[in-house]
Amino acid sequence: MREYLKLYIDGQWVSPSETKTADIINPATEEVSGRIALGNAADVDKAVKAASRAFDSWSQTSRKQRIELLESIQAEYTKRKADIGAAITEEMGAPTGLAQGFHVDLGAGHLATAIETLKEFKFEEQRGVTLISKDPIGVCALITPWNWPMNQVTVKVFPALATGNTMVLKPPQLASYSAQIFAEVMHAAGVPKGVFNMIHGSGSVVGSALSAHPQVDLVSITGSETVGIEIAKSAANTVKRVCQELGGKSAFIVLDDAKLPENVAGATSGLMVNSGQTCSAGSRLLVPKARMAEAIEAARAAAAAVTVGDPNTAVAMGPVVSKGQFNEIQKYIQIGIDEGAQLIAGGIGRPEGLSKGWFVKPTVFANVRNDMRVAREEIFGPVLVIIGYDNIDDAIAIANDSDFGLAGYVNGADAKQCNAVAKRMRTGWVSINGGFDFNAPFGGIKKSGNGREWGEFGFHEYVEIKSLLGYAPAPAQ
Ligand code: NDP
Repeated sequence: MREYLKLYIDGQWVSPSETKTADIINPATEEVSGRIALGNAADVDKAVKAASRAFDSWSQTSRKQRIELLESIQAEYTKRKADIGAAITEEMGAPTGLAQGFHVDLGAGHLATAIETLKEFKFEEQRGVTLISKDPIGVCALITPWNWPMNQVTVKVFPALATGNTMVLKPPQLASYSAQIFAEVMHAAGVPKGVFNMIHGSGSVVGSALSAHPQVDLVSITGSETVGIEIAKSAANTVKRVCQELGGKSAFIVLDDAKLPENVAGATSGLMVNSGQTCSAGSRLLVPKARMAEAIEAARAAAAAVTVGDPNTAVAMGPVVSKGQFNEIQKYIQIGIDEGAQLIAGGIGRPEGLSKGWFVKPTVFANVRNDMRVAREEIFGPVLVIIGYDNIDDAIAIANDSDFGLAGYVNGADAKQCNAVAKRMRTGWVSINGGFDFNAPFGGIKKSGNGREWGEFGFHEYVEIKSLLGYAPAPAQ
């Protein structure tokens, strides 16, 4: 049993103001796996004040000092990778291979990228008589979700730190174990007191106190649309910057010249990774209408090949994160059936042989229309919908006919055509034939939010632009 009953404030592990705790349930067993402390508004106030005090000195540190600190964090993070991976499996059910692999590696990747970006980042630019300076914004509230817990924490904390900000992290209750170990990493690495603080607790208490706090200068939220809106509203009274990384319902277009069975199979098993709980997942698979039968065959076989079970074994898919998430996904599977979408794999209920744990069948609907709820609403589970298109213009129109605009995928043999299609997709991020890059800005448009994270653009989120007019350029040496 894990017991994480302290909060990390001003460089120390301290007891919360109240002795409230929450039980954490292992989604694979439905058993209590531990307890966490629940912070409140008084704890938030202490953490924000600590961050505010630390800002004066941390914001004045040199590039070299910050790189040294990030490298020290890197050394500690590397030591704790296995612990973080194990925590992720226990808290949100990612299979060991995935948790110890991609989950932990995403954190390491963002850290390495932050170090490289910091080495080159232009904090100042002379334009004519004016010096444009990119100053740290101040105290940042970082509010993260449970689905890729280390990715979400590291993609915010490191750019904020590298650009000279101080911060309070509010991790999700459902993934507080990995966040706890992350805070231990920060402490062991010697992050100066007050620069990084972490408060366990609920969004409605800790998250909303942070969003409304007058000494918080920026809130970065990754989460649902509903929560993103609530935070923006409560932050509005104190005119703070709000960076929103919200949901998605992204289109995966397989072009007519692509090897259809391979691409459909890849898109199907790809959607099932992390039990489909990925904001940027290609959850609407678009295939040429004339080849729907071929696509059905490939998707059915790929879904059947996804092994589901105990995440501590070599399965492809563990449970979904919680009972609530399980029920929500079941609701959508029923909606798909009721709407007349063709269920070709999976369906209602747990996979055969699993009577306990929040396991969902890898589910695929074919011959889906883009106006059905299963095509329009984010399900956030292992449920793929396949939609047929008539021609490229139709594919693009379907892809863009969404309230969301986070990601997109285009696979095809003709690189020029893929690029042209990708350019016409109205999203913040498009992957062409599997392209992946830690330096590519990541974020959405429309209801997917307004922020840009990852790489250099992630740094821009955390700086204010300041103009110093009449600032004489240094004479050439
Ligand atoms: P939620 O929006 O429920 O929660 C996100 C975070 O916000 C949690 O830490 C939560 O706390 C906190 N929170 C909840 N209510 C409030 C509030 N009133 N004020 C301040 N903070 C609050 O999302 P989930 O954790 O369920 O994550 C899934 C969602 O996140 C999906 O919609 C997904 O698409 C989106 N997402 C977006 C990504 C992107 O980059 N665009 C990436 C990953 C996920 P707690 O839960 O502890 O109570």
